[in-house]
Amino acid sequence: MFSKILIANRGEIALRVLRACREMGIRTVAVHSTVDADAMHVRLADEAVCIGPPTARESYLNVAAILSAATITGAEAIHPGYGFLSENADFAETVEAHGLTFIGPTAQHIRTMGDKISAKTTMQALGVPLVPGSDGELINLDQAREVAAQIGYPVLIKAAAGGGGRGMKVAQDESEIAEAWSVARTEALAAFGNDAVYLEKYLDRPRHIELQILGDTHGNVVHFGERDCSLQRRHQKLLEEAGSPALTAAERDAIGATATAALSKMGYRNAGTLEFLYQDGQFCFIEMNTRLQVEHPVTEMVCDIDLVREQIRIAAGEPLGYEQKDITFSGHAIECRINAEDPETFAPSPGSITMFHPPGGPGVRMDSAIFTGYRVPPYYDSMVAKLIVHAPTRDAAIRRMQRALDEIVVEGVKTVIPLHRRIMADPEFQKGDYTIHWLERFTARKA
Ligand code: ADP
Repeated sequence: MFSKILIANRGEIALRVLRACREMGIRTVAVHSTVDADAMHVRLADEAVCIGPPTARESYLNVAAILSAATITGAEAIHPGYGFLSENADFAETVEAHGLTFIGPTAQHIRTMGDKISAKTTMQALGVPLVPGSDGELINLDQAREVAAQIGYPVLIKAAAGGGGRGMKVAQDESEIAEAWSVARTEALAAFGNDAVYLEKYLDRPRHIELQILGDTHGNVVHFGERDCSLQRRHQKLLEEAGSPALTAAERDAIGATATAALSKMGYRNAGTLEFLYQDGQFCFIEMNTRLQVEHPVTEMVCDIDLVREQIRIAAGEPLGYEQKDITFSGHAIECRINAEDPETFAPSPGSITMFHPPGGPGVRMDSAIFTGYRVPPYYDSMVAKLIVHAPTRDAAIRRMQRALDEIVVEGVKTVIPLHRRIMADPEFQKGDYTIHWLERFTARKA
């Protein structure tokens, strides 16, 4: 086992990884930008190294500075968290070239899945069902028109290098295809430096359902069931549940078997998530994330597992030590992402937190790096906390979340807590009756 791990991230996820290390008796190295010098992940780590100025490009994305920090502190492995360098294949490769362990999949698998076109082709060859669409990259607008006419409108033009919901444009009919084509490509080039796009049927009422997978370096692959992440705004998740209110145990077993068979054929190692759109009982693969996800705690709660600990054990070469039949699901878990944003306009609300009181009591988990007096910097993601509850049933989990949302106090910055309270009180949400379009309609209604 490693004796020291460098955590190449900040905020709640840096703390999450640090907590797993502590419990495993592994020493931790935090890295931070100048603006994060007194952040909680820095205060709690055994050692800390400043890696640059506030902008992510100069600090949390600064590969040379992070590798130097690992070298001078004698760290043996690097955990990338999510975001930043977590899905950067070159980074994973460089880490290993320096004789350190990258806590994640191989650079080759990160690269394949990082390009959504090669991800889809790979999964299709491994027997995973896809959303109907173009066979690879679209070469020109005429081809986009042709494929759209074949599969039928509406269609979605998506960036091959896409992420964070960017570089995606819907065309409702033929009159919109030229515009969608050029906007998606321009956005993709600006955001990812790559204007390759592909086309998918735009599903009108799917749920976003994803599967948590772990593979070790001895050929074992298991899944930990699904998360329903349909509650999204601008293709960005806001609330997640495990399990999905829409899925039966038999459906979970079936898609789980398909997914684990595919990843086992690939020789996939460490944590990964297969994302699907689910409509009319059909699963359609959209992309794979080759890292730990923001919403991993809901899976941890229902499966009673520490996914970060498992990632570290796998990276150290240990076998999983359990099989699919050993993984059981108990109760229901819900996660609310607490973003420092205006709950109606969603404008970021950085600034000083004048008062923070986390909720507690049975079945409540708060993953956050904020504290009273903390200044939310304007440079990074606006998510400042994740509130997670676990209870025997979905109804009980909703009541528990309502109770926790009544207890939590965050003052000084605006947050989306009032929106979460409204969602929890909504009869359609309570019935589990929603698709990926539900939240946008809900937020358009007056509070
Ligand atoms: P990103 O990597 O930017 O998050 P994804 O491919 O994961 O992009 O898609 C993000 C979200 O966009 C999905 O969760 C879903 O809500 C929506 N979406 C993606 N593809 C489709 C599609 N073919 N039809 C309808 N909605 C889609």
